Amino acid sequence: MFENKNAADISIMIRQKEVKPSEVCGYFLARAKETEPDVNAFITLSSDLMERAEKLDQEPISSATSPLFGLPIAIKDNISTSDMPTTCASKMLANYRPPYDATVISRLREQGVLVIGKTNMDEFAMGASGETSFFQPTHNPHDLSRVPGGSSSGSAATVACGSAPLSLGSDTGGSIRNPASSCGVVGLKPTYGAVSRYGLLAYANSFDQIGTFAKTVTDTALLTAAIVGHDQKDATSSRDFTIDTAAVEAFSVKGKKIGILKECFAAGIANCVDDRVMAAANTFASMGAKLVDVSIPSINDSLSAYYAIALSEASSNLSKYDGLRFGYRAAHFDDLESLYINSRSEGFGEEVKRRIIIGTYILSSGNYDKYYRKARILQATLQNDFAAAFMKCDILLSPVTPQTARPLGYKETNPDTLFLGDVCTVPVNLAGLPAISVPCGLDHENMPIGVQLIGRKFSDTELLGYARVFERESN
Ligand code: GLN
Repeated sequence: MFENKNAADISIMIRQKEVKPSEVCGYFLARAKETEPDVNAFITLSSDLMERAEKLDQEPISSATSPLFGLPIAIKDNISTSDMPTTCASKMLANYRPPYDATVISRLREQGVLVIGKTNMDEFAMGASGETSFFQPTHNPHDLSRVPGGSSSGSAATVACGSAPLSLGSDTGGSIRNPASSCGVVGLKPTYGAVSRYGLLAYANSFDQIGTFAKTVTDTALLTAAIVGHDQKDATSSRDFTIDTAAVEAFSVKGKKIGILKECFAAGIANCVDDRVMAAANTFASMGAKLVDVSIPSINDSLSAYYAIALSEASSNLSKYDGLRFGYRAAHFDDLESLYINSRSEGFGEEVKRRIIIGTYILSSGNYDKYYRKARILQATLQNDFAAAFMKCDILLSPVTPQTARPLGYKETNPDTLFLGDVCTVPVNLAGLPAISVPCGLDHENMPIGVQLIGRKFSDTELLGYARVFERESN
């Protein structure tokens, strides 16, 4: 009934009283139960969704009702929900149930949006494939033998396989844009500070940002508009930021300058990715935009800077999971020290432990100046270089990932190659900019490819406008 419908279509049906919220939620819940054995997008499915939806059936609908009223949404399992566990896909938090809702969750609940479940992810959002989850990997709905991308693997896969019309993820270095590209859905990482992080379990808090997945840009704009805005509980949240959904629809690219970001086309990009992304650029040109070449050489240092800062912050953020105050406690220990050691050794997976060790090393005295301070200097250079680039163009365009989704279980023995997958996404987080991945075609094996558009700080409405123009023109 709703298979080919996006959230905006279903919303109209609800508002015109053609369908009830409980029918919509019933459909998606059934679809989730059908796809879960293959896809494994969820860690927890809501047990009382239908009850909550039936309550909404009784509520009056007026012009003041949110456009998302009555729709179900899937939530990445690092965003706190008081009625369901929030595990970060880790054994460490397998039994953790937050005592409060994240601000984005309270905002959605106030608007009559219902959480259908909590989605699978790389453990503590560390990864780019969805395979580091304690709860087994998520599979790409386009080819079950492949990864869906990560770390917001389940949030992308659920929208791609139609078991939720909308979802939320988090993006620290690409974790929304990467799986959106691999699963053929739209993924937006808003400007840092546009969406409250209160209740988001931190990986690297100076980069972490909650953002959205949807089938279309219009749905993305509606969902983003519903969650942005100032929150007293997050000092980094912006004061007067909004999304103008009408302006997104009315946007025109005529006369705008699109910067083709040179450094992102150099790093071992597959031919099919290069072709499709350049075809997307040419679509903008055919709509009256001008393409200009832009180079930001400091992007070549951004992976080193990102990992030095992200892992330092992670080692600090994850120190609270000690088996005493928070998290899994080992069954066997002799004293306080072995309680800490055993709980953390057994509770964290390999990737998380590796990152904590590197982060601790970077922050240790003597190394701090050598690595951390240098990384912050590189970050400042990159920020200035982005600002200079935006003097030459209105928006930047690049691939999202150098390759399409790889087979599950493929072991990249060289961690450097693994990290290279992030080369086009992490500069955006270092600079705090908004960026979106929009589907732009398929490779020769029918795997989706995304094009990344990067905007100036707080230009999220215009960024969505560009994406909407492209989506309209390419469909
Ligand atoms: N792949 C990157 C990392 O592992 C990004 C992850 C993310 O955005 N959460 O750090």
